Amino acid sequence: MSARPLLMIPGPIELADETLAALGSPGPSHLDPELIELFGRSLEDIRTLFGSADAQPFLVSGSGTLAMEMALHALVAPGHSVLVVDTGYFSERMAKMVERLGARAEKLSARAPGSAPSPGELEHALSAGAFDAVTLTHVDTSTGVRLDVAAFSEVAHRLGVPVLLDGVCSAFGETIEQDAWHLDAVLTASQKALAAPPGLALLTLSRAALARLESRATRCPSLYLDALEWLPVMRAYEARKPAYFATPPVHLVRAVAQSLSRVRREGMGARVSRHAEVAKTFRAGLRNLGLPLVAEETLASNTISGVYYPEGVDAALVGALRKRGYVVAGGLVPSIASCYFRVGHMGETGLPEIERFLSALGDSLAELRSR
Ligand SMILES: *Cc1c(COP(=O)(O)O)cnc(C)c1O
Repeated sequence: MSARPLLMIPGPIELADETLAALGSPGPSHLDPELIELFGRSLEDIRTLFGSADAQPFLVSGSGTLAMEMALHALVAPGHSVLVVDTGYFSERMAKMVERLGARAEKLSARAPGSAPSPGELEHALSAGAFDAVTLTHVDTSTGVRLDVAAFSEVAHRLGVPVLLDGVCSAFGETIEQDAWHLDAVLTASQKALAAPPGLALLTLSRAALARLESRATRCPSLYLDALEWLPVMRAYEARKPAYFATPPVHLVRAVAQSLSRVRREGMGARVSRHAEVAKTFRAGLRNLGLPLVAEETLASNTISGVYYPEGVDAALVGALRKRGYVVAGGLVPSIASCYFRVGHMGETGLPEIERFLSALGDSLAELRSR
């Protein structure tokens, strides 16, 4: 066991040595050819790895919450109506953002934590109103529920409603096909399955979404959140030219470029399969220990699991795991928060780490039950 505890939370997560090393050298200027090359290459990687040939990528200083809000402002204007497919904590956050920007949010909520609305229910809800956008949380970090984005976006596309995908807890651990799935906006953050430090928001707008934004009568009320303010900078960097709107975190850009190139070398297909394998092994281990998942079995994600405490065990389990060198997260859905914990299995976390973690989990349960 290493002296330093292993991060098995939904971000920040463990970093590869080469990503860490990228943080440790003196920063280039944001106008330096080295930085421009890394930035430009990262934008190309984001577009390709999100499954698009021509979407406009953005790499902006901020967390996943910034990415959510920036993407939302690109698709939605005051007075619009937005259908929020609600699978947990971060869908609730999206609904709040919709209301803050002066649009109307209607939620299509899961019946219970761990379940999800069906594409048929989405069709019904979208047909019953006039919506300007629908938002989906690919993997909800609070429950570990994964939506079948292809099926949901097929419905929305058929009904002509733009789709915003919150991929903060899924991108680089689950398949995302922006073009094939007709996604207007896709977003994530650096610290989850990309395995880079927190601090950068990654997002892409489809060409159609960008064209609608450019022809909109009113501008985004916030300068920083306005994708059109960032657009010239992103285009310049991709053309390997210097540009400035707001100072990029140059060390983080280096680290993210490194993590993106690791993903590129592994291959997105191989990376998603590896995550699926790790998740399957973890769930089998949970079954052996008699621990039920929060997510319905068919909705369980590759990247995170919500796990109910067994009878007679409580949040002391989180402390017992910490003593054994593992940091996991507590419950987040208010109605069941004290009944479950969450384990992230993404990025650099592989089968050896999961096997060791399962063994520590078994030991921790035994310790708590013998109290
Ligand atoms: C973590 C997360 C967010 C918020 O990201 P921050 O970087 O914490 O702001 C949003 N949506 C989902 C699905 C997440 O997992």
